[in-house]
Amino acid sequence: MTSAHICDAVLPELGADTDREYRLGIMGGTFDPIHYGHLVTAEQAREALDLDLVLFMPAGVPAFKQDQQVTSAEDRYAMTVLATAANAAFDASRFEIDRPGVTYTVDTLTALRERYPDNVKLFFITGADAILDIVTWHNAGRIAELATLIAATRPGYHIDQVRDRIEASGFNFDVRYIEIPALAISSTNIRRRVAKGKSVRYLTSESVIGYIRKHGLYNSSVVERTDVL
Ligand code: NAP
Repeated sequence: MTSAHICDAVLPELGADTDREYRLGIMGGTFDPIHYGHLVTAEQAREALDLDLVLFMPAGVPAFKQDQQVTSAEDRYAMTVLATAANAAFDASRFEIDRPGVTYTVDTLTALRERYPDNVKLFFITGADAILDIVTWHNAGRIAELATLIAATRPGYHIDQVRDRIEASGFNFDVRYIEIPALAISSTNIRRRVAKGKSVRYLTSESVIGYIRKHGLYNSSVVERTDVL
């Protein structure tokens, strides 16, 4: 099955009106679990960059987490669907979780580029910490050609390090930075709080909290990755 074939099955129609530009945000993350920091990031990116739609794309097998225990892709996807359901400008995509093997962003962006006409512009949104390593990602130079990057930072985050690394790489990345106070919330912290029986209300949606409880996610065996509280 080609990547374009998978795309046909799961992606929304966009770009039919060739007289106008469509701006598609791709919100990439492990989303283990999705939380309000992610949702606020996507909403503010949508507003700041005038995006028509933000596709939340949980990574199937995250490239840099192959040696870590990650909650099943189906659970992460289900929580993403629940959290994004009420926003007409958000959609959750199975594209990366249905693709076998390690998830490489360049494969996703290449497939989207093939799937949509040229009047659809691609914007890849993720955390600045992830962007910091982008020069080491598979086929990083091609990513720079395919999409504008939107890097979400938390207050106090120094973007100089990201800028320096990207400049030194020689790749022509177009990176926009947006500061998101709600990114003080982290998936790591939510997993740890659930494991300790602490409240996670107001850190993520009630629907996600209900799903976590119903399916018994984040008991102690899954929580301990490489994270330190
Ligand atoms: P991560 O290293 O777990 O995340 C780094 C930081 O960014 C964390 O603080 C994380 O907070 C935050 N973050 C992650 N996604 C975010 C988002 N969409 N919006 C705001 N903050 C976000 O990163 P990851 O989740 O594994 O990967 C992020 C994206 O980069 C995914 O789409 C992944 O496929 C892609 N990636 C690609 C490659 C490759 O192609 N070789 C390699 C690495 C990553 P939380 O933990 O609270 O989310």
